[in-house]
Amino acid sequence: MDKRLDIKPNTINKSTLYDNFGRVHNYLRISLTDKCNLSCSYCMPSEKGLINFTKNPMSAAEIYEIAKIFVDFGVSKIRLTGGEPLLRPDCQEILESLAKLPSELCITTNGILIDKHIDTFKHLNIRSLNVSLDTLKEDRFLKITNKNHFLKVLSNIHLLLSENFHVKLNMVVMKGINDDEIFEFAKLTKDLPVHVRFIEFMPFHGNEWENGKVFSYKEIISSLEKDFELDKLDDQMHDTAKKYQVKGSKGTIAVISTISTPFCADCNRMRLTADGKMKNCLFSKGEADIIGEFRKGNDIKPMIEQCVKLKFESMGGQNINSLENRSMIQIGG
Ligand code: SAM
Ligand code: SF4
Repeated sequence: MDKRLDIKPNTINKSTLYDNFGRVHNYLRISLTDKCNLSCSYCMPSEKGLINFTKNPMSAAEIYEIAKIFVDFGVSKIRLTGGEPLLRPDCQEILESLAKLPSELCITTNGILIDKHIDTFKHLNIRSLNVSLDTLKEDRFLKITNKNHFLKVLSNIHLLLSENFHVKLNMVVMKGINDDEIFEFAKLTKDLPVHVRFIEFMPFHGNEWENGKVFSYKEIISSLEKDFELDKLDDQMHDTAKKYQVKGSKGTIAVISTISTPFCADCNRMRLTADGKMKNCLFSKGEADIIGEFRKGNDIKPMIEQCVKLKFESMGGQNINSLENRSMIQIGG
C-alpha cells in the first residue's frame, strides 16, 4: 500500500516532498551560522582545528529565497539553529523576513542573547523557544560549555517564562557527566511551566562519543520512576520526543531517544547547513550543494526533490559506531 495513505487526515498538508519510503517532508531546520558563544564538549570538537568554519555563509536574502522555495513545496515548519542562531549580526532581518512566510517559525538557542531579541520575538509572534541547558550547577556549566554564562542563561529562561513564552529546555544527558541531575530537572517542571527534554548523547565528528556515555531512554525513565509518578502523554505524529508528565506538575518532560530507540520511520525533517548544503538526515554523509546551484542562477527545486528521494530508511544509512559526518556545530541540531 502507498504509505501516504496511512497519514491521518488532520496531519495532511500540501507538502509534495516525499522520499522513497512514503515519508512526507515538511519540516526544515536552517543553520544560520556555525559560530557559537559557547563551546559545548558534545557539539564543538575539542580540537577547534578540526572545524573549517564557513567563510561564505548563506546571506539573509539567500536564506529567505531558499526557505521560500521549501515553503512553496509545502514546508509548514522552519526551525532556526546553528551554531548559535542569535549570534548572527543580521539575525533580526532574517527573523523578520522568514516570519512573513506561511510557515511556523521556531528557534533553538543556548539562551545567552534572548534578552536582546525578546521584543523581536514578541513582535513577530514567535512564542515558543527551545533553550539548551545541561546542568543546574554553575561550575558544571563552565566545565560542559567552557564559558561562564550560566546565570545569564538562567535569567533569560525566567524572562521567557515571565513573558508567557512556551519554553522547552534541552538537556543532553551524558553518563558520569550530568545524569545525576535528571531528578532536579524533572523537579523543575513541578512548579514551572517548562518542558524538559532529555536528549540521548549522539555521535558527531570530534565529540568523543562512546556508547558507554549514552544515558538511555530506558535508564532515564526508570531513574525518574524511583522518585516520581509519571503519566505517559500522547506523542504527536513526527514527534521525536516521548512525552511524560510528573503527576500534578505544571510542565512536562520528554525523552529524545535517537540512539536507543530511533524514530526514523516517521521522519519529516530536512536540514540546510550554514554553508548552504542540504542534508536529508542528521546522520547523512551525502549533501546537496543547494547554495552552489542557487548562486549559479539555476532552479534548485529538482535538487531538493532529488535530495529527499535519496534519503536512507534510517540513520542516514550509516552505522552509529562508524559514522562519517560533520561535527554537530557545522550541521545545526
Ligand atoms: N546553539 C543552540 C543551542 O545550543 O541550543 C542551537 C544549536 S545546538 C547544535 C542544537 C541542539 O543540539 C541543542 O539542544 C544541543 O544540546 C543539541 N546537541 C548538540 N550536540 C549534541 C549531541 N552530541 N547529542 C545530542 N544533542 C546534541
Ligand atoms: Fe554552541 Fe549550541 Fe553547540 Fe553548545 S550546543 S556549542 S551552544 S551550538
